[in-house]
Amino acid sequence: MNYFNLFSNIMVTKGMTRVLVSDLQRNVSELYPLELHELIEELKTTSVEEVLNNYDEESKAIVQDYLDFLLEKEFGFISQNDWDRNFPPVSYAYQDYNILSNIFVELDDIAILESLKESIENLEIRHMVIYCRRTLLLEELMQIDRMFSHAPLEGIEVFSQFHESVDQHFIDTLNRNTSRLYNLVFYRCAEAPFNDNDSFRFTVTFTGQDLSISSCGKVNLDHFSTNLPKVLEAVNHNSCLHKKIGIDIHGHIKNCPAMLESYGHIKNTTLEEALNHKDFKKYWNLTKDHIEGCKDCEFRYICTDCRAFTERTHTDRAGLDTSKPLKCGYDPYTGSWEEWSTHPMKQKAIAHYGLSHKTKVS
Ligand code: SF4
Ligand code: SF4
Repeated sequence: MNYFNLFSNIMVTKGMTRVLVSDLQRNVSELYPLELHELIEELKTTSVEEVLNNYDEESKAIVQDYLDFLLEKEFGFISQNDWDRNFPPVSYAYQDYNILSNIFVELDDIAILESLKESIENLEIRHMVIYCRRTLLLEELMQIDRMFSHAPLEGIEVFSQFHESVDQHFIDTLNRNTSRLYNLVFYRCAEAPFNDNDSFRFTVTFTGQDLSISSCGKVNLDHFSTNLPKVLEAVNHNSCLHKKIGIDIHGHIKNCPAMLESYGHIKNTTLEEALNHKDFKKYWNLTKDHIEGCKDCEFRYICTDCRAFTERTHTDRAGLDTSKPLKCGYDPYTGSWEEWSTHPMKQKAIAHYGLSHKTKVS
């Protein structure tokens, strides 16, 4: 007897219409018909010969093709007879020893970062996202990078409004004088000042979009990630808010700047105190397995969540909003994508968040 063994780094996520096969070592995910999932399930307990015998001649050829395909894609291997098939599965446990891993700050004045610096260091936050409503000057960007030169902070991502002073010299100078900036996005840029964006230590993007905090949370294929830590975090926790803290433009401490609930103000509350608020972590363990629509979607472990903008249709017993992210145009029940902002069922929520104008421009 021959047995098919799925490699333990292959994660199979069944949706309503398709199955997503993720290779967690190669960081790639691919979509396949549901029959492939049925076959993989059957092969877990039944020998190849027995599986093939369950089908008539015509179907047998199709099953054999699928089997060849699984082997060709290196999703598994064949073992014989009494080979011990109890291979230990890859652990899907998520380990992150940081108290917080991300901070998302909306600011006008970078002085706010000085007041947060001590907590950012104490909490050993690793990544910071800054959204600025105006253009950050060259000196300000270098100052932000310098400010955290002795902190455990590993990376800083900045969204800044474009200005004509942002040219190749500006970016070259940043490249030479910063170490933590890893992604720069200049928005409201009619025309990119130069095209060679590959020669810097960080990524630089120029976009004509008028980005704001309410532009966050869009779900599309480009944002999906089969990066192992991200997948494991999504399997166990909320894929956006777990270990995240946000500061809005007025200094309120939140789960993310776009959310309504505030857990204190930076003038009189430290990040540590906000974190200890009994409700601060309430969304941290809400996985997509408990979110309407997402729980039946094959992308649920490679897609990020959004709790700031949802369809506002469902709440669980604990009062958590378990509605589908508003800015997702995917329907897992038909397997098709549509433009989310014009979907008739979403208009009430779009109006609630006051997004009607923004959705047209972004
Ligand atoms: S909850 Fe939504 S708006 Fe807030 S950071 Fe996450 S994706 Fe962005
Ligand atoms: S339904 Fe949309 S938001 Fe939910 S997991 Fe699927 S793609 Fe992501």
